[in-house]
Amino acid sequence: MPNKLFIAGHPFTIEQDVDNLDIDGQRARIDYKRLRILLNLQKKESVLSESFIHELLHSIDQIYLNNQIDDENIIEPFAEGIWQVLQQLGIQFDFTDIK
Ligand SMILES: [Zn+2]
Repeated sequence: MPNKLFIAGHPFTIEQDVDNLDIDGQRARIDYKRLRILLNLQKKESVLSESFIHELLHSIDQIYLNNQIDDENIIEPFAEGIWQVLQQLGIQFDFTDIK
């Protein structure tokens, strides 16, 4: 995975932020102001992959839907469902280049 991705036309940086995320017990977080998706790279790859999709859905909601969803009870099962299908297709994310 590159450390920079355009999401809905916005240049997001994918970074690791183990220290701050661990304090809150979070796996990942999105920072819209600084256009960053932060990942807790201490988590296992499958958890990170689902978390990445989760934050991706938040960003799409924010940019395309003006935050109409903004509900973890919707985002979470969507992320899980998408990740389950991607896994069956043999699609995996490689986080080795994320620093
Ligand atoms: Zn969320």
